[in-house]
Amino acid sequence: MCGIVGYVGEKQAKPILINGLLRLEYRGYDSAGIATIEKAGIKCVKNKGRVSDLNNISSINSLEGTIGIGHTRWATHGKPSSTNSHPHLDNSGNFAVVHNGIIENYADLRDFLKSHHYNFLSETDTEVIPNLIHFYYESGKGSSQKRFLKAVIDACKMLKGSYAIEVLSSYYPDNMIVVRKDSPLVIGKGENENYISSDIPAILSFTKDFYLLNDKEFAFISRNSIEFYDENNRPIEKQAKSITWDAGSAEKNGFADFMLKEINEQPKSIRETIGSRISANSESILPDLNLTKSFLKSINKISIIACGTAMHAGLAGKFIFENLCEIPVEVEAASEFRYRNPIINEKTLCLFITQSGETADTIAALKLAKSKGAKTIAISNVVGSSISREADYTLYTHAGPEIAVASTKAYTSQIVLLAIIAINFAEKLEKNNQKIDELKKDILLLPSQVEEVLKSSDKIKDFAKRIYKEKDVFFIGRGIDYTTSLEGSLKLKEISYIHSEAYPSGELKHGPIALIENNVTVVSILTNRLLVEKSISNIQEVVTRGAKTFIVTNQELNYDFDEVIKIPKTNSLISPILSIIPLQLLAYYISKEKGLDVDKPRNLAKSVTVE
Ligand code: GLU
Repeated sequence: MCGIVGYVGEKQAKPILINGLLRLEYRGYDSAGIATIEKAGIKCVKNKGRVSDLNNISSINSLEGTIGIGHTRWATHGKPSSTNSHPHLDNSGNFAVVHNGIIENYADLRDFLKSHHYNFLSETDTEVIPNLIHFYYESGKGSSQKRFLKAVIDACKMLKGSYAIEVLSSYYPDNMIVVRKDSPLVIGKGENENYISSDIPAILSFTKDFYLLNDKEFAFISRNSIEFYDENNRPIEKQAKSITWDAGSAEKNGFADFMLKEINEQPKSIRETIGSRISANSESILPDLNLTKSFLKSINKISIIACGTAMHAGLAGKFIFENLCEIPVEVEAASEFRYRNPIINEKTLCLFITQSGETADTIAALKLAKSKGAKTIAISNVVGSSISREADYTLYTHAGPEIAVASTKAYTSQIVLLAIIAINFAEKLEKNNQKIDELKKDILLLPSQVEEVLKSSDKIKDFAKRIYKEKDVFFIGRGIDYTTSLEGSLKLKEISYIHSEAYPSGELKHGPIALIENNVTVVSILTNRLLVEKSISNIQEVVTRGAKTFIVTNQELNYDFDEVIKIPKTNSLISPILSIIPLQLLAYYISKEKGLDVDKPRNLAKSVTVE
């Protein structure tokens, strides 16, 4: 995973690199480091720990160069330590590299380089890269920029795996070379300066014009030019894209944490996702998805493939598609799907959901589905992300940048978009007209209803104070409420480190009820009128055994539960969009009570760009 950042310009690189790394820290925070080119050559400052700790290293004060690279690490090979931190230098100290990804054949490459008398200081897979570049550079001649570029291209030809790489060389103090394959990297174009980053928001305050690299495309960057080359060293043309997000949307705007800000942004993000795609009295508009009625009639299965929270959105989507389109839907974790032999073909429609559009397992699963002839649709929040370049169709959630590692607004926007796609299909298939009309009206009400739910924050905070020392919390629900339980349980685990499990309410008595004892908290979601009585019985079963109960419901309940959070009534197919919000807030406030870093939970990173 990790974040990489780079600057080539007229200003001092150090503060720009540190600023970019702080914004990219959500991608990994095992260690951080920067390298700049100074008069005496490449200088590197790196250490275990957070980006802000770099400022405590006195040698950082001597970095004055106007070209530099930076890295914030999520360790894959080699423990978090100062030596394993990036940037990594070659043995001669003339090439410095930062890398996001995994070099799968690093052991063979190490052996190869060792046989040519190279030494290795770190345990990382990355350290082979600067040494390979040096190896190929030495076999070239002259001092032209072409020699530098050729050495990097030749080195990359040896690499198997995934990488986004920035390379500096003391021989070329005005230039940087960058390349990507299956890991994200964008180039921001400025006036007499250029920026490089793993994502757009990190450098959005500097520029709005971006170049997006495809796999195995190289950029040779100086302060006032960017040249692009393919893997065969042939020049290629690329157009910059202008991004319309404003820089402020990637700031905390007065909230204590990004997560709280993003939870509170949901009325707006849902409104943006709806956009002009649906209105009360006309057909849905999805210009980017022109699937025909005859195609939709020909498919016999929809497969929704995703990871983590996005997969939970997919589970809610299953209810919506099956209900409106009457097509069977299966939902699967991308990391499972790709390692079996899934039965899919040209009669399968595959939907891939990933907030960042960079999730390695999801992209690999998409490639597999395509190779088997399935039509592929990607749902992503990041315009131009890697998955959009692979899928037949890409629909964007338009939820705005999501910075907190624990996903909140992306999840609700994903369900909204799935509902809109299901409506679009059902309209084309001429199915369930009346249900669709009602659902559209309900979707349009969501932003104001989310505002209503957010008003329960104080009650939820109080309950969090009562239970934050607990060791186990259970989440239960029936039907679509079970999918919300899964997501509520994941949120709690991710940011509070409390063990929690989600079960279908009716499953409790088949085993897990053995774990219920005095004062264990059971969170229950209850939004389907038809299932209320059965679910209440399940809650009573745990109350009898001493459980504390936190209920999220849109029903009138005449029972004495420990806390009941009332949410507005809506169509049960989209109820997770409202019922998840109290659970997001519960996880948030428990994490705060425990004094944890809400936005950057341990061991996690936002976009999982390694497999
Ligand atoms: N594989 C590299 C390492 O462990 C880079 C990991 C990352 O992308 O953060 O250092």
